[in-house]
Amino acid sequence: MRLDRPVVFGNWKMNGLRAEGLALAGTLAERAVRLTGTLGIFPPFTLIHAVAQRVKETAILVGGQDCHERASGAYTGCVSAPMLADSGAKAVILGHSERRHGLGESDALVRAKLRAARAAGLLVVLCIGETEAEYLAGARSARLAAQIDGSLPEGIGPEGLVVAYEPVWAIGTGRTPTAEEIRATHREIRAMLAKRIVGGDSVPLLYGGSVKPENAAEIMALGDVDGVLVGGASLDARSFWSIYQAGGGA
Ligand code: PEP
Repeated sequence: MRLDRPVVFGNWKMNGLRAEGLALAGTLAERAVRLTGTLGIFPPFTLIHAVAQRVKETAILVGGQDCHERASGAYTGCVSAPMLADSGAKAVILGHSERRHGLGESDALVRAKLRAARAAGLLVVLCIGETEAEYLAGARSARLAAQIDGSLPEGIGPEGLVVAYEPVWAIGTGRTPTAEEIRATHREIRAMLAKRIVGGDSVPLLYGGSVKPENAAEIMALGDVDGVLVGGASLDARSFWSIYQAGGGA
């Protein structure tokens, strides 16, 4: 799957009943008949099929926010990667901090999910990021290296993989690292990926954490930033589209 820059993905989290989800997808679909970049939306499981139908005449990518590591079985309440693909998803977010820290997901579990998602043909958006304590202790690089090492299966290629750098302390807080910190961290992540994966320097890198229309242009102009993963601001079509345009998308 070719991902033209800017790559702008919206994580709706646990938001959206059918009417509002379809209205949001519909507004985006009207603007996105032809896209110069890559625009993706990640609704809750319940809306994937309906949203995928709503945007099917456009290039908008629809994805899930998580998947189980097994394809099927006695796992009450869980959704597998083939199920996501079957409902119209082309991608999945894995290792989001709200799952790593809120639900205790380990790197090993994220790795198993990643393997399952790739086997189902889904593009994987792997989230990594340090906590505030790690940031303040100067342990950011070590945490990111450990997450990259632990979350990526051995022998994986760069195809079908996107990495999102999301500092935990920047998600939903209105706080972001400085532009220089984002630039330097992305450069470091690119080098880590190049070491871990053959061709890993071609993996698109997104920044995520309190991206808004006001700061999107500065962030997406930075070297080694290929786009952004947006939470809160992706729930408003006008803000989400402005962020996409701020990165040069049309
Ligand atoms: C996210 O949840 O991935 C995220 C980046 O959230 P927000 O943009 O609201 O900080």
